[in-house]
Amino acid sequence: MTADTSAPRAPLPLVFDAPRRAAKPPRHLADLTRDQARAAVVELGHPAFRADQLARHFYAGVTDPAAMTDLPAAARADLVEAMLPGLLTVVRHQSADGGRTRKTLWRLHDGALVESVLMRYPERATVCISSQAGCGMACPFCATGQGGLTRNLSAAEIIGQAVAAAAAMAAGEIPGGPGRLSNVVFMGMGEPLANYNRVRTTLDALLSPAPHGLGLAQRSVTVSTVGLVPAIRRLTDEGLNITLAVSLHAPDDDLRNTLVPVNTRWNVTEVLEAADAYARTTGRRYSIEYALIRDVNDQPWRADLLGSRLAKRLAHVNLIPLNPTPGSEWDASPLPAQREFVARLKAHGVSTTVRDTRGQDIDGACGQLAASEELSVPGVALPQPQLEPTIELGAADA
Ligand code: SAH
Repeated sequence: MTADTSAPRAPLPLVFDAPRRAAKPPRHLADLTRDQARAAVVELGHPAFRADQLARHFYAGVTDPAAMTDLPAAARADLVEAMLPGLLTVVRHQSADGGRTRKTLWRLHDGALVESVLMRYPERATVCISSQAGCGMACPFCATGQGGLTRNLSAAEIIGQAVAAAAAMAAGEIPGGPGRLSNVVFMGMGEPLANYNRVRTTLDALLSPAPHGLGLAQRSVTVSTVGLVPAIRRLTDEGLNITLAVSLHAPDDDLRNTLVPVNTRWNVTEVLEAADAYARTTGRRYSIEYALIRDVNDQPWRADLLGSRLAKRLAHVNLIPLNPTPGSEWDASPLPAQREFVARLKAHGVSTTVRDTRGQDIDGACGQLAASEELSVPGVALPQPQLEPTIELGAADA
């Protein structure tokens, strides 16, 4: 094999634990269980049921205290300040695909930046959300991974991205008239299973019916992971029924050690076995994410190896033509190579789709999301800085 599989930049270290930051985000109702929220409201001198009223407003996307007419006027401002502090500030929206894809750059209380992407399709609307500011998993083809980890997001910071997307759909901000957010994928910035507890709290909020959540269907929520095996096992034991996506990107350890460096901890066999156990327990097929990179992982023999490894498994393959990131020499596989790869997987009986890459022109596609505001000057078109990390959100819920 002569493919150049070297990383475009010096390999980064793997970072599992987020650096501790002095200033945590302010406490928010969405960080708390229902009982904790009721207790907090009582502590503020209000009846416990005010917590349910606040929750209903939060999950409906209501942020203006004046609109919360079921709360006593004199208490609104205090309750909102104490329980629903604004955690996400829009820095900018960028649209593509005739407005049906919208990327939002958010500023957090400490200046950290994250992105989410809302994608409307005829039959569904999916938001791709971030679980960390940056990422510690160091995948060399991913813009976020190359930027390193800034910090974990709080549950309320993660949930807030989904709530904002639901509110935008309900308000008809996305062309096609008012609609409903149907899907959430954890394919924005960060490794969700490296921020396990906050992501677990987020899952409850996404799945709980109103007033305590967005009421999404379990199968419409996808957690995507590099393959943190102990965390996959933990998720398996939760008794949930959400969709698991595993970012494989190579069927062999030699190459995967380079493309997904955490493979040096948990290898392909271990990751697939953990995903199999998830499928056995939940009865749900898992997704294998595979970014097709020209002459790196797209050889016919690798398609055959992937096909033979997945043939007897409850897995579906999502092929994503690589979205090139700034500074990388890597490129997407050409169409004939993509077709050949699909044909070989299908010949092994493996169900396969090639993901459509929405929002590429706004750096809103998988692996392209970059919280890059500090590197740009408003109103001036600058060339993309070489080191600018971009994270990409994928419409991976096909
Ligand atoms: N940390 C999680 C979520 C990250 S992003 C994970 O790794 O699964 C979601 C998907 O986009 C992952 O499968 C990731 O490998 C993929 N991805 C990242 N950068 C990409 C790029 N430049 N082109 C195509 N897919 C990319």
